[in-house]
Amino acid sequence: MLETVHVALPGREYNILIGPGLLAQAGEHVAPFLRRPRVVVISDDTVAALHLESLQIGLANAGITMQALSLPPGEATKSWSQLIRCVDWLLDQKVERNDVVIALGGGVIGDLVGFAAAILRRGVRFIQVPTSLLAQVDSSVGGKTGINASQGKNLVGAFHQPSLVLADTAVLGTLTVRDFLAGYGEVVKYGLLGDAGFFEWLETQGPALASGDMAARIEAVRRSVQMKADIVMRDETEQGERALLNLGHTFGHALEAATGYSDRLMHGEGVAIGCALAFELSARLGLCPQEDPSRVRQHLKQMGMKTDLREIDGDLPDAQTLLALMGQDKKVVGGELRFILARGIGDAFVTGDVPKEAVITLLEEALKS
Ligand code: NAD
Repeated sequence: MLETVHVALPGREYNILIGPGLLAQAGEHVAPFLRRPRVVVISDDTVAALHLESLQIGLANAGITMQALSLPPGEATKSWSQLIRCVDWLLDQKVERNDVVIALGGGVIGDLVGFAAAILRRGVRFIQVPTSLLAQVDSSVGGKTGINASQGKNLVGAFHQPSLVLADTAVLGTLTVRDFLAGYGEVVKYGLLGDAGFFEWLETQGPALASGDMAARIEAVRRSVQMKADIVMRDETEQGERALLNLGHTFGHALEAATGYSDRLMHGEGVAIGCALAFELSARLGLCPQEDPSRVRQHLKQMGMKTDLREIDGDLPDAQTLLALMGQDKKVVGGELRFILARGIGDAFVTGDVPKEAVITLLEEALKS
């Protein structure tokens, strides 16, 4: 049941292993990367309580010892203060240039710990052990690492590819329904941006996947990761095509900022709502078939996901403020907002050619409905 996706970046190639039971086998997979039988692991409190011991036993099976640090769970941990804490701790552990740091957790831990590894002693190797669906299908692959700034999300960071990714699909079983579905938002994104056949597969297999079908979970992670790996191999530092992976994110990031990166809205929930808005905008601009936005929303709703702004708890700012928040997006070029829009399901493209009035009208109506 073990699948492997290879990321063939010259000089920085690595494997992504996907399947149940990988924590227990961690030692044999990690050992080839070590110069001495010792690793440091950073996790969050929730994941550590559930899975750190399994990782420890898996490493010990190959004679590898580990020291661990656990941080508070949640998006607020992707911060300067927690970055300093990680780096200080890693230095206190006397991590050397040839050692390996392991990130055990969701996208928050992967992004933060990857960035700490990127800057520690000008760069030490790190291994991603993603435990959320979002991290398994997206954030653990491709080498984007970083933290949030008060000015916006992911504004401080570095490209630093992992040396190995161990995606143990059995650990997805301990995710809350909400966390699982937030990750599913990124899975749907892959179908929407570049593979209509995958979206169709999700329309039929999504419910089985959500209720725990292991074969369906492995297949969803494998197809998502393969798509991401293919795009990253063609455009590692996002000079072009990689921006497609941000489908739904321009809207999503603005909503995350508007809700204070709090548990009012998880990243993957923002992405799902953002995908629905991106298809709505594409249809209004005459770019994609009129029936596509409702097909997207129907599938998200079928899965029990948020698709509308009114489903976000609490008040949201007005459309102008949301547009201003989009202006902090990393995709802004020369002050011009860039959107990922679609010619249809499975066919996204990047454009700077979107009238501001169309975005404002869309947001005003979405805020009212
Ligand atoms: P997260 O790391 O906060 O995890 C979500 C919640 O699930 C947390 O409370 C965590 O403790 C819990 N959790 C994780 N694994 C668990 C498990 N197996 N069992 C029980 N609970 C578990 O958030 P996330 O949704 O994984 O990731 C979101 C982050 O990823 C955002 O900061 C986003 O910007 C980033 N991201 C990065 C990239 C990239 O390319 N680097 C891509 C997409 C998203």
